[in-house]
Amino acid sequence: MPELAEVDYYRKQWNAGLEERVSQVLVHPAARIFRDTPAAAMVQGLPGRRFLASRAHGKQMMFEFSDGAWLGLHLGMSGELTTAPPDHVPAKHEHLVIVLESQSLVFSDYRMFGKATLEITDDGQAPLWWRALAPQPFERGFTKRRVHEFVQRFPKTPIKTLLLDQRGFPGIGNWMADEICWQLKIAPQNTAGSLESTQREAVWKMTRRVSREALRVIGTDWGDLPDSWLMNHRWRDGGICPRRGCKSELVREDLRGRTTCWCPRCQG
Ligand SMILES: [Zn+2]
Repeated sequence: MPELAEVDYYRKQWNAGLEERVSQVLVHPAARIFRDTPAAAMVQGLPGRRFLASRAHGKQMMFEFSDGAWLGLHLGMSGELTTAPPDHVPAKHEHLVIVLESQSLVFSDYRMFGKATLEITDDGQAPLWWRALAPQPFERGFTKRRVHEFVQRFPKTPIKTLLLDQRGFPGIGNWMADEICWQLKIAPQNTAGSLESTQREAVWKMTRRVSREALRVIGTDWGDLPDSWLMNHRWRDGGICPRRGCKSELVREDLRGRTTCWCPRCQG
């Protein structure tokens, strides 16, 4: 599932079409990604407008078109953004294709947990919900105090589960939450309320560090994170803890509905 760095990577793929005008929009009208805005509204509302800007915020993306049209996209579990030639014929899972002058912007999503919305505003501003999103971990508004307060609001929630809460940690997903816990040597199932104040501060710091590094490495050109991180070892059963001097076998178990990987020795 795309997290903040993967989302930013996909967002930038569409930048190849910046400044171009929309000639037509091709859709699979029954696709579940149109559950909030009907596909017909996109087909009618976008042609003639120019593609002006793209932004990512956590797991959300916003594409601005001229005259106040805002296309919001969420990649869900399996969404991907690519570009194709202007005469591209949409494949089975390519539910939204925006045809520009020299290329097409393609949103594919085979599991359809993703979502596309279109809103027209007349004040030149992005829709209200977008402006109300919580600060991202690498932004100034993501303060130590904010994290302290958020953690204290949910004392019974496992810390790993809390890190997935987009109201507090926008853009953090499954692998990043596991990475943060592992880097800090905190067991993922420890409740938020069990963290001491120094640990809460460490969670704030590490969330920023992991986010920045992921954005730099994955968000730029989908590079590989260092082998000394949990990231490259967490995907299969039988992985070995990469921490120097540990070498314990990693555990993978369900925690509140999400596969969670941790080292029983380092994070005991
Ligand atoms: Zn270990």
